[in-house]
Amino acid sequence: MQYVLDFGAPSPLVGVHDRLTAHYGIPAPGLRFTPVSMLVMAMLGCRTRDEVSLEAFQNLRQKFKNWEAVASASSDEVNDCIHRITFPKTYCIYIPEALRGIIRQQGKLSLDTLAHMTVGQALHSLQQHRGVGPKISACVLNFSTLQMRALVVDTHYLRFAARFQLIKDDWNYNLKMKVIQRLIPNCWLAKDTEEHHVLVKKLAQEFCVTGTPRCCGCPLQMMCPHGQCST
Ligand code: SF4
Repeated sequence: MQYVLDFGAPSPLVGVHDRLTAHYGIPAPGLRFTPVSMLVMAMLGCRTRDEVSLEAFQNLRQKFKNWEAVASASSDEVNDCIHRITFPKTYCIYIPEALRGIIRQQGKLSLDTLAHMTVGQALHSLQQHRGVGPKISACVLNFSTLQMRALVVDTHYLRFAARFQLIKDDWNYNLKMKVIQRLIPNCWLAKDTEEHHVLVKKLAQEFCVTGTPRCCGCPLQMMCPHGQCST
C-alpha cells in the first residue's frame, strides 16, 4: 500500500480538484465574516449543524451590542443564546475567554494582525486560545475577510483522505493535519483552498459517505485506490 509522503512529487490534490471541479463546477464563494466574527461562528459550528450554529450566532448578535460585550458576558448569558449547539456549556466559557484573550494580546478585539503572518504562524497564534484547534483556526484564516490559503480539514475531508490513501487511519490527528496541509500545491491561492474544501465536502456527503462509500458514479473512482465498482 503506497501512501503519499514524497512531497517532491506533484500533489495528488491537483488531480482530485480538477475532477471534482469538472463534476460539480466551481463553487460560489461563501459569506465573508470579519476574522473575529468568523472565530465565533467557527467555534459555534465546530460540532454542530450549520443551521443550528447560525441560529446561535444570530442570537448572540441580537442579545449583545458587539463582540466586546460577549467578551465580558457571563457564561450563563452566553449559554442562553447558544444552548442548542453541541456542548453549549463548554463553548459558553471558551468563546468569551477567547475574545478576552484577543483583547489582552492585541489591546483591542481584532485579529487583523494575522494578515501579516505566515499561514503557519497565524494558525499557531489562534490555537493558543482554549477550544481553538486546527479546523477552527483554518476557518478563520480561509473563510473570513483575511482570505489566507489555509485548508479547512473536517471529518468529511479526513474520511476521504484516508480512503484515498493520503493519510493512514492510525496516524494521530496532528500528523494527519500536517500531511494534508503539506499537500496543498504552492500555486494555490486562498480561493483554491476554499473551493477544494467545499468540493471534497460535497463528495463526502454524496459519494464518500460514512459506512459503505458509494464508489459507483464517484467522480474520483478511476483514480482512487479504495474505489471499487462492479456495475
Ligand atoms: S471512489 Fe469510493 S472511496 Fe474513493 S473517493 Fe470515491 S466514494 Fe470515496
